[in-house]
Amino acid sequence: MSNASQQGSGSQQGADDFDVVIIGGGPGGYGAALYGASAGLRIAMVEKEKVGGTCLHRGCIPAKELLETAHVHQTVLGAGTFGITTDAPEVDWSVTQSRKQKVVDQLHKGLSGLIKQRKIETVAGTGRLESDHSVTVELSDGGTRTLKGDAVILATGSVPRTIPGFEPDGSVVCTSDEFLELANLPRRAVVIGGGAIGCEFASTLADMGADVTILEALPKILPGLDEDVAKQVLRAFKKKKIDVRAGVKVTGHEPDGSGATTVSFGDGETIETDLVVVSVGRRPYTDSLVDDGAGVDLDDRGFVTVDELCRTSADGVWSIGDCIATPQLAHVGFAEGICAIGDILGEHPVPVDYHAVPWAIYCKPEVAFAGYSEEAAKEAGFDVVVSSSRYMGNSRAQIIGETDGLVKIIAEDQGDGTGGRVLGVHMVGPWVTEQLGQGYLAVNWEATVDEIAHYLQPHPSLSELFGETVMTLTGRSLHG
Ligand code: FAD
Repeated sequence: MSNASQQGSGSQQGADDFDVVIIGGGPGGYGAALYGASAGLRIAMVEKEKVGGTCLHRGCIPAKELLETAHVHQTVLGAGTFGITTDAPEVDWSVTQSRKQKVVDQLHKGLSGLIKQRKIETVAGTGRLESDHSVTVELSDGGTRTLKGDAVILATGSVPRTIPGFEPDGSVVCTSDEFLELANLPRRAVVIGGGAIGCEFASTLADMGADVTILEALPKILPGLDEDVAKQVLRAFKKKKIDVRAGVKVTGHEPDGSGATTVSFGDGETIETDLVVVSVGRRPYTDSLVDDGAGVDLDDRGFVTVDELCRTSADGVWSIGDCIATPQLAHVGFAEGICAIGDILGEHPVPVDYHAVPWAIYCKPEVAFAGYSEEAAKEAGFDVVVSSSRYMGNSRAQIIGETDGLVKIIAEDQGDGTGGRVLGVHMVGPWVTEQLGQGYLAVNWEATVDEIAHYLQPHPSLSELFGETVMTLTGRSLHG
């Protein structure tokens, strides 16, 4: 443990002394705990609610489960094209909700078992870092307990932001927290915010049969996406009749007292709806987390300030996940947890490369990408060559009946119009979140087009489109 404080280590530890004390049991915190325990560290993890955090209970998992239900609904609606006749399918929302909860509960049970098996001590309560690596815990069942760690990791995550005038009211206005627990499927919904989570919710509701409007203050939804990919999403949303209103600000809403409300936006426009979903980002949850004497700096937005190895301004204290200003993604939290534990062990870990993390948006059509978009690569000064291929020409896409979308690869121009190093891989279409893996590897391995163009893809498969797109960048092609 070369980088942790030397106080109280190894066999002299008492019941409240640990190699590492982690505050927060979400993907960042439990990822660090599992990885650290697998390396032989004695770990305590303080969690005020349930291990698994936002991701398992109020984020990734329930949101994707509901998206899958919406996908099944659409599949059944389209079954006639395969010659399978069905009576008009209906969504039984109570069954949908209980299936979602069953998936969450099963994963929670598995995770809790694994944590126990690795002998990680989970302390139920709210933790606060004092000076000298002391963590005071207000225990959930009353009383306090003070834990001491040679190292401390802060992993308290984030909570939804709200907009003044649109505070969640338990009926007509909700954030992601309440959306995932909705008792009824609304007939009409307004989603405020066209980021990844807003678009996933809009897609879920529309595919379940609701009339959906997205109100986005920025000039376009899903900012930062490659232009060609964003266009595909917009086209698909239009097809499913999602009304996308970008460049408009919401100004307020007036409930009618009978379960509906009228949202005002833009230049005096209004829209009546049964549900408003506020999806305008998440703020770090660092309220009362550190005592002044702990020496941990927060920035003016409340994020814990860290260096490239997730070290805070206090010696022997690290911070990871959504409470630091890095991409708010569960897998980034895992990577930061692994990095922090590696640093605690003195193993000189490689810092997380935030530029090249995999991004996945699970709306329909799905979006997945890693590395530079075409616009960003050009802005960064690269001479690029670009190749895109559409799923329309892919046999598996025809078989499954999902032909909208494309794979786009951006590579350095070798000077003769062929591709050198792969800079970015961008996908939109069927199951692309499952296909990004090889694109992510190519970008992060800094592979050149020639190095990977000869690798085979199974036939018929959706992933052939990646292979074909890479080959096109060599100047030769099969179908492209
Ligand atoms: P959290 O998961 O927020 O966990 C923090 C934990 O700390 C919580 O359990 C909390 O109770 C606990 N805690 C806080 N303060 C204290 C304290 N003082 N003492 C004790 N315990 C405390 N990411 C993806 O990668 N893919 C997705 O598909 C995806 N979908 C999402 C969908 C939605 C609707 C939302 C809201 C988020 C989604 N995310 C997704 C983001 C992902 O959930 C977060 O990036 C991830 O959960 C962050 O992990 P974390 O450990 O930093 O924080």
